[in-house]
Amino acid sequence: MPELRQNFMTKEWVVIATERAKRPDQMAVKREAKPVVSFSEKCPFCQGHESQTPPEILGLPDGEGWKARVVPNKFAALSPDCPPERTIRRSRRSMGGFGEHDVIVETPDHSLAMAMMPDSQVADILRIYKIRHDQLSLDPRVAQVTIFKNYGTDDGTSLEHPHSQLIATPVISYQVRQRFQEAMQQFDDFGCCMFCQIIEEELEGQKRIVLTSEHFVAVELFASPAPFCTHVYPRRHMASFSDVSAKETADLGRVLRTMLAKLYIGLQNPDFNFTIRTAPAECVGVRYFHWYMSVIPRLTRTAGFELGSGMFINTVIPDEAAEFLRNVKVEAAVGVS
Ligand SMILES: [Zn+2]
Ligand SMILES: [Zn+2]
Repeated sequence: MPELRQNFMTKEWVVIATERAKRPDQMAVKREAKPVVSFSEKCPFCQGHESQTPPEILGLPDGEGWKARVVPNKFAALSPDCPPERTIRRSRRSMGGFGEHDVIVETPDHSLAMAMMPDSQVADILRIYKIRHDQLSLDPRVAQVTIFKNYGTDDGTSLEHPHSQLIATPVISYQVRQRFQEAMQQFDDFGCCMFCQIIEEELEGQKRIVLTSEHFVAVELFASPAPFCTHVYPRRHMASFSDVSAKETADLGRVLRTMLAKLYIGLQNPDFNFTIRTAPAECVGVRYFHWYMSVIPRLTRTAGFELGSGMFINTVIPDEAAEFLRNVKVEAAVGVS
């Protein structure tokens, strides 16, 4: 029978359409494999083409070359030179488009997907995220730092060279505010962090766990809005990504790479987005919010019902998605760290 499930964190309802349900393996992407090239003459992110990007903000050297680098986005959505001044004219509010928009070039290798990188390289990328997140959070004009990756052809990404992005904004989005209010309300009512509660319950039940490590837990959401929507939670309560330790970062590198490799192998290299959901700078250290990573493969399209109702229909039962991913073996297919 179909079932409606409510997301504990957002209170959003999702339809788990069991009558239309597909087996997890039916979601695998069917497309032709592209030829693998580790260098492209036309790509501004390939090694040797450094002059084609704006000047580097941060680099991770590797002998004569580099392992990873951060550059300003040439086509930035927001500009650091724009003062964040507010204007209120009757019902119309606006603000100068202040912000920072970084591109994190993850590797010199044009075709090395994150799922195939050594764990240590993914950990290096996470370290870079943290450095830029911390630097920008100190700027009094910055209210929120969003770190994300768009991977694939249909995902709003125009360059295929492995990269992720970071956008610092002078406002906190309505969606983030609402989620924070929900978390705060929950803390006021029950005296505990709702994320810590979810981690404890999922570890107890085991059904939706994909993998665990010393410091992290990867789990399919109970009320997942889309197939294989995965959260990676730190076991230790931390509101902000800024609080993550060096040991935890190394561990997360392994967990994230393994998770992505499971998707890559199990679903045949699907498009995906990931993002780090973390406390805005003004909420660092709060007891009611808990940072995490959200990984969402793009296997379905949102359509009229989702747009009109704000409710999603998911045709893969999250418990079965977790079982499927647990059984995908990744060790043999990836580089050694
Ligand atoms: Zn390239
Ligand atoms: Zn917590």
